[in-house]
Amino acid sequence: MEGGWNKVAVRIWRFWLEDIEIYELASRVLGDITNDLNETTYVKVGGELTFHWRTEKIFGAFASTLSEVGKPPNHRITMHYEFVRQVWRDAEDLCKFLRSIPKDSDTDKLYDFYGDRIKLPKCFNDLELVQNMFVATITWVYFHEIGHLMQEHGVIRAEFGDAHGDAAQMTDVHDFEASNDKRLVGRDALVSHVTELAADFEATHFYVFELLRHVTNSDYVGDEQRNEVLAGLMYLMVCGLSLLFLRFNGNLPILPTAVIEGSHPNPLTRLEINVPQIYENLDLIRKLGVVNHSIDRKQLVFISGKAALSATLYWSMTKTTAQKFDDRFLLKGLLSSSAVLQYLQPIVRCWDEMSPRINEIRRFGSPLGLMNFTDLFRTRIAGVITWGKGPEGKTSSSSLPDA
Ligand SMILES: [Zn+2]
Repeated sequence: MEGGWNKVAVRIWRFWLEDIEIYELASRVLGDITNDLNETTYVKVGGELTFHWRTEKIFGAFASTLSEVGKPPNHRITMHYEFVRQVWRDAEDLCKFLRSIPKDSDTDKLYDFYGDRIKLPKCFNDLELVQNMFVATITWVYFHEIGHLMQEHGVIRAEFGDAHGDAAQMTDVHDFEASNDKRLVGRDALVSHVTELAADFEATHFYVFELLRHVTNSDYVGDEQRNEVLAGLMYLMVCGLSLLFLRFNGNLPILPTAVIEGSHPNPLTRLEINVPQIYENLDLIRKLGVVNHSIDRKQLVFISGKAALSATLYWSMTKTTAQKFDDRFLLKGLLSSSAVLQYLQPIVRCWDEMSPRINEIRRFGSPLGLMNFTDLFRTRIAGVITWGKGPEGKTSSSSLPDA
């Protein structure tokens, strides 16, 4: 799976790409991952993973299970050309925007909190910046679909949803398409949200693992540059992931809510959950001595925060009607909103109920890819004060997610 970052830079000599070149690049990156997963995993269990493109103008991707439970897995991931085109153009526009921020302007000064005003990693050229952000984002989405497939979420949704196993297994799990949301309610919505978060968890774990595998390859980067390149790639990853969820969210901020409705969680809540998972994973791996990098937890948190600020500035200052910085799009910390804490209570209960069955069905992958909630986290969400008298009572909102 090294191909994503490695092989693409040499051939392209311009600093911009035509749409067709974006499709070719995505095909090469995702084709390499598909081949690799087939060789390392699917072939061993007698199954097959395939990757398909669709031409409809849809910002989305989906996962399909073509096999029955207990039979060798026949899995398919489908992505829309429009999706990868938009991801590339967003990455390109973000870089242009960040370069255009006037020196010493109020916007520029927002970066002082992070110790410097450097907005794009200096170890990459213009094309590499966009390319690394693009590859990180489409790879993460691909891994999210793999997460659905490896945990057979079609089966899980049928077994644990309102129909309690009477419904036929759902064969397709759609993502990032607001138009495809069937406005699920009740138990079906809850189970769908939990499986989305579980697929995110698998994706982020896969992504961090691949990132580290990549930066420890001495053909790509030497020891003395490792920290800088790792920090740069992580920064671009958080930028890319933020842009993905901001686009999925749309031009108006969807405020956090405790209500569980629709097929997908609030995009900004998902981002709040995924970003800490990236730096926690990187920090854990450093402490365990698995990979030699010396970026400590505080720095990792700063890199993520700065990247999320960059994406938020871009999105709110160019895509919203007001065209000014709107901190409602900004990460605030998962545990800072009582609405999010309330939202997570049934999510954790439902995951506890489903995870033994998922463990049974899941055919491959590291145990670290399985979503888990620490005791501290469980205590924190269980202790949320919901009746408005405590400090957490003020921040709830009645807005509903619709993406
Ligand atoms: Zn999904």
